[in-house]
Amino acid sequence: MKNTCTDINAFMSGLRKRNPGQREFHDAVQEVASDIIPFLADHKEFQGECLLERLTEPDRVISFRVSWVDDEGNVRADRAWRVQFCNAIGPYKGGMRFHPTVTESVLKFLGFEQIFKNSLTGLPMGGAKGGSNFNPKGKSDGEVMRFCQSLMIELHRYIGPDTDVPAGDIGVGAREVGYLFGKYRRLSNTFTGVLTGKGLNFGGSIGRKEATGHGVVYFMREMLATRGDGIEGKTAVVSGSGNVALYCIEKLIQLGAKPVTASDSSGFIYDPNGIDEEKLAFLKDLKEVRRGRIEEYAEKYGCTFSVGRPWAAKAHLAFPCATQNEITEDDAKTLIANGLMALAEGANMPCEPGAQHLLRQSVLYAPGKASNAGGVAVSGLEQSQNAMRINWSLEEVDQRLQIIMSDIHGKCSKYGKHANGGIDYVRGANIGGFTKVASALQECGVV
Ligand code: NDP
Repeated sequence: MKNTCTDINAFMSGLRKRNPGQREFHDAVQEVASDIIPFLADHKEFQGECLLERLTEPDRVISFRVSWVDDEGNVRADRAWRVQFCNAIGPYKGGMRFHPTVTESVLKFLGFEQIFKNSLTGLPMGGAKGGSNFNPKGKSDGEVMRFCQSLMIELHRYIGPDTDVPAGDIGVGAREVGYLFGKYRRLSNTFTGVLTGKGLNFGGSIGRKEATGHGVVYFMREMLATRGDGIEGKTAVVSGSGNVALYCIEKLIQLGAKPVTASDSSGFIYDPNGIDEEKLAFLKDLKEVRRGRIEEYAEKYGCTFSVGRPWAAKAHLAFPCATQNEITEDDAKTLIANGLMALAEGANMPCEPGAQHLLRQSVLYAPGKASNAGGVAVSGLEQSQNAMRINWSLEEVDQRLQIIMSDIHGKCSKYGKHANGGIDYVRGANIGGFTKVASALQECGVV
């Protein structure tokens, strides 16, 4: 059989033609294909079945209108999508994002990444992503609820506990998951684990809220251990102040590091004394309960607030936990010049391609598909608990999370080891994620 993809330039030029204007999706595929195409050339067993071509074409993209009524009685219309990318190893699984920057391209990039991430967890989950250009910022609870209910009127046709299990992402937290779940329950007349990230009163898993942020620090710990080093005593720069960032900061404090920054879309705070437990409690209340702006932290604790991003702060460790393309090549140069030892991505693709290239060569660098997989992993555990109708304890969930993050590190090391003993975590994650999905595609025939 002919192996159709041997040349990255030809492959990417075909992909760009088929998906015009989808820059985020192009970048995500380019990063993966750059590792997979050379791997395929050396591995006859994966040649000849168009595996990469099949994996870069979503199973389906569902696009729909969401109409809802705002508090003034105006009818509003937004657009939503669900990208069901690949269910070769399990039901589709991936978050929903509500943010004005959401486009089909962004969701295809995220859904594509999710295939590899979910595979790396070792759990039976396929790749998907969804969301809407609806902006929840500044909306009342009632408006958010009506939007979520309207969205579910359409989405419920395409999801189910054995079909597709959405979760949260940017702009979709416990409140939104609750509204989405409530509507699904009424529409389907079933109480089933169709969404993860649910509240603890209706089937959520203890430890899910913390899982992505804690997991990213566990992954960092594994990376530092390869150099005989640890988290304790390190200064850390963190971006974001949402779900991932808050619990990344929490675990850093617990393991003895000093996180000195946090940010939101208005700017960042720099606290040279470090964010401690008391300050973190304030930050959680500010962001999770009051939905306020990060500047309030600077006012309360007398530190600086600046517009922009926090990458000029001097730190040993970096954790971008806000959004995609938040670290430019120049930011990466600054971080490295300031003595950065390691960077683990909490967000998905926060580093622009030039930044990634530089970091990959200069420091311990973990791509999000490996280091932020703890969230989806505990979502997988939530599905298992729902199916068995039991609840595990926090200790049990955390223990499993630590094992999964360590296993992912092991896969990255296995497939990303250089002859000189160093580890290319990007290559390791790409190939480690690919082999399981590719084998499943082969074993199930051409469908
Ligand atoms: P949240 O909505 O809880 O928080 C997002 C944070 O990033 C907020 O502080 C937000 O600020 C900031 N932010 C968002 N967009 C921008 C932007 N364009 N510029 C500057 N700051 C921005 O999202 P999560 O914490 O859940 O997600 C963060 C990242 O982690 C995303 O890339 C997501 O895909 C990824 N991720 C999340 C997982 C999860 O379990 N939640 C799992 C794996 C990955 P503001 O409030 O001002 O908008």
